Amino acid sequence: CGIFGYLNFLVEKDRKEILNYLLTGLSRLEYRGYDSAGIAIDGDTEGCDALLFKEVGKVAALRKKIFATEGLDQGKTFLAHTGMAHTRWATHGQPSVINCHPHRSDPKNEFLVVHNGIITNYKELRLVLEKKGYKFESDTDTECIAKLAKYIFDSQKGGSQLTFTSLTKAVIKELEGAFAILLKSSHYPHEIVAARKGSPLLIGVKTQKKLKVDFVDVEFGPGPETDKTELEGGADTSGKMKRTQSRAFLTEDGLPQAIEYFLASDPSAIVEHTKRVMYLEDDDIAHISAGELHIHRVKPGDGLTSIRTIQTLE
Ligand code: GLU
Repeated sequence: CGIFGYLNFLVEKDRKEILNYLLTGLSRLEYRGYDSAGIAIDGDTEGCDALLFKEVGKVAALRKKIFATEGLDQGKTFLAHTGMAHTRWATHGQPSVINCHPHRSDPKNEFLVVHNGIITNYKELRLVLEKKGYKFESDTDTECIAKLAKYIFDSQKGGSQLTFTSLTKAVIKELEGAFAILLKSSHYPHEIVAARKGSPLLIGVKTQKKLKVDFVDVEFGPGPETDKTELEGGADTSGKMKRTQSRAFLTEDGLPQAIEYFLASDPSAIVEHTKRVMYLEDDDIAHISAGELHIHRVKPGDGLTSIRTIQTLE
């Protein structure tokens, strides 16, 4: 019932600090009610080694379990890292460690997902995936999202042709129901994808240097040229345009910069880090990669071609 994600890029953070961000983020969402909680963080080597922690009950119980974990090098530092966390209000499957999010595609944790909401066609999806040999571990509706991501990835020549965005689009097209999700994958290290339909999700942005633009164009499809509306901040306001790419944040000098992103289902988990936030709309897919944030639509050219602006919370 609560989602929190954290991504740092070119900002050095140690594991203890990252875990504290994730755990504190979850505790800010506690007032919404939940029965269990879980976290995924990057492992010690690049690749298929994300670490998962899950516990039934309070976030404090999860915190205790994590910091009691033997061999967890809390001082290990990361220049780029993705982590995500979830408090669960069970709708499908009882509150138990195995049913806690994040859910995974396979024992190597290739694809991990946290999810708020309900996938109404999960039984059909699960049946299809089980027939293809996928072994489900939980009783949740959520797990089919992770399995589906791996299935689509593997069926596209090892997924090498797919960006994390196009993979997510293919996954979402199969899902019915309501969701806010975060996805993380060993195939796309230091990247995170966020998507929503019917459940809230927002992204906080924290930078050291000033951003040149504080808006993001949404991916326009092939299709009619679109009138671009006036922009807050004043860059490029000219006339009609046709885009197939969204615009990322740039610094004044156009160079990549130290940046941190906070993703959450509720602003209360973000405000202590930054007041600069962007709310996602239904059918948006936010992709953070190489420190840049791009917004895509599940179906580009679907008419909802507005610009997502970074707002400053009071
Ligand atoms: N339907 C999912 C589950 O039961 C997510 C519930 C939630 O929003 O916490 O695991």
